[in-house]
Amino acid sequence: MPSTTLAAGDPIESRCTKCRKITNHIIVAMAEDVPAKVQCNTCSGQHKYRPPTVRKKPAPRRAVDPAVAEQKEWLKLQPDIEAKAATTYTMETAFKVGSVMKHPRFGLGLVQGNLGPQKVEVLFEDGKKKMRCL
Ligand SMILES: [Zn+2]
Repeated sequence: MPSTTLAAGDPIESRCTKCRKITNHIIVAMAEDVPAKVQCNTCSGQHKYRPPTVRKKPAPRRAVDPAVAEQKEWLKLQPDIEAKAATTYTMETAFKVGSVMKHPRFGLGLVQGNLGPQKVEVLFEDGKKKMRCL
């Protein structure tokens, strides 16, 4: 990596707080290798350096609707789920993680997690549900 050649006195583009747009500036002060303070050529105001382009933040995590995500997961797993032998759900049945239950209301569901004593998390076609079991 070539070292940056920026120095105080150099022209640089920055967002200006007064002009409220990107204008040409002169670097007034450097902080190591990044401009710390700049002076606007348009309004002569001095302010902190603000990069003209909004620095790329990691893509904002799109709020995925959990219901949508769960349905996608279901669609992906559906062939596996349907291929497995399903155990009819009752509260008196023990379900292991990875087993498939057949629920009278929700249909087939894949047991995905053990939530503690007598509780498992099950992925059904219409989403994840906590089910009581033995
Ligand atoms: Zn300005």
